[in-house]
Amino acid sequence: MSYQKNDVLTVKIEDMGHDGEGIGKCEGYTLFVKDTVIGDLAEVKVIKAKKNYGYARLMRLIEPSPHRVEPICPVARPCGGCQLQMLDYAEQLRFKEKKIAQNLQRIGGMTEIPMEPIVGMESPFRYRNKAQFPIGQDKNGKLITGFYAGRTHQIMENRNCYLGVEQNEEILNRILAWMEENSVSAYQEETGKGLVRHVLIRFGFTTKEIMVCLVVNGKKLPAEKKLIQSLTELEGMTSITLSVNRERTNVIMGKEIRCLWGQEFITDYIGKVKYQISPLSFYQVNPVQTEILYQTAMDYAGLTGKETVVDAYCGIGTIGIIAADKAKSVIGVELNPASVKDARNNARHNNIGNITFYQNDAERFLNEMQEQNAKADVIFMDPPRAGSTQSFMASAISLNPDRIVYISCNPETLARDLEFLKKHQYTAEKIQPVDMFPFTTHMETVCLLTRRK
Ligand code: SAH
Repeated sequence: MSYQKNDVLTVKIEDMGHDGEGIGKCEGYTLFVKDTVIGDLAEVKVIKAKKNYGYARLMRLIEPSPHRVEPICPVARPCGGCQLQMLDYAEQLRFKEKKIAQNLQRIGGMTEIPMEPIVGMESPFRYRNKAQFPIGQDKNGKLITGFYAGRTHQIMENRNCYLGVEQNEEILNRILAWMEENSVSAYQEETGKGLVRHVLIRFGFTTKEIMVCLVVNGKKLPAEKKLIQSLTELEGMTSITLSVNRERTNVIMGKEIRCLWGQEFITDYIGKVKYQISPLSFYQVNPVQTEILYQTAMDYAGLTGKETVVDAYCGIGTIGIIAADKAKSVIGVELNPASVKDARNNARHNNIGNITFYQNDAERFLNEMQEQNAKADVIFMDPPRAGSTQSFMASAISLNPDRIVYISCNPETLARDLEFLKKHQYTAEKIQPVDMFPFTTHMETVCLLTRRK
């Protein structure tokens, strides 16, 4: 069955896409319908029809989903940050479990999925320790900041995002006031002119330390002292830095960081371990759930103190450092130099002597380990959204680990990679999803793979 533009149909919404659009089927034909949620029965009008799928506009809710809720954020709809605010939290969790299971079946070819129920948050708001706010101007030239509207680079004014910490608002107020008072310009993407592009704010949930990093299209700030004076009045201010980004690119951060005040990093804890975090380093954004994620990874690793461990895609060394306590030795590998620097300092500050960090491409590094006939007992791998590579995994397998603990932020690439590992003697034994990103379509998954005898 296929449909045409302007056809009016009744559709039951059963899934949601990356951008939070409802997805339903009409006689096998898939329709994407903005502003609908799982459970809605809706009358929709087709606006764009392809052979096997199409896009439709919501005309009327025939029967609203029992899981519909009023978003608490006034800009939830247009904002690109959240996608699931119209869905109650329990249903968000079910949606994520289903997404993982579907991917593991469809892409990973798994029939039995040894998955535990997803771990959600008790209080799913104000969980993010990091935010990047674009700075711009509205039509009248007034300075604004907030988040990009979905799929655009149009800034929606919002300084009080419910996913971020309350401190963000006052920091932004002060930065924009300083810009206004000192005629500091906002960067304009269209022309490449103007100075301030983004403000990165990080907050240590345990230490209460605050980092502010201004990303600028220039080498320095006018009236720098006034900005510092204003920001340092705020409790917890620890690090004020400048990131120079003069490229015409969508990449937010520049490669060069200059310290304006205080130190170049903040510190925070996960469990008992203290970490140093620099502006350019990756650090999990939800510290409450990270503790659960890492604990699960450790449980799955089953370390006894005798193991040789690899922590691949190790970031600032968080997983490897926790594991080092319970292993003979740990090797961490990470591409980003700033993260590796943090990782080395973190090992030192926590008096961990049996861990070594290498700055390298994880694939190349594992290939080299294979050439040297190296062995490992446990491999942690925590690749970015694009997942790992077959070459990395082939080398990982050659190290002959009893266990591979795969931590993933993307169920599609996880499923693809598990399929490869499954064909090469490793069985997915346990899978634990953790909701690290309430109100968004994102999730984290830990998977234990063991070698078949
Ligand atoms: N395990 C860490 C970081 C996970 S995020 C934690 O839990 O905090 C994924 C990390 O992979 C990032 O730090 C990123 O810089 C790194 N990365 C991306 N591509 C890589 C590659 N090809 N080789 C090694 N590391 C890479």
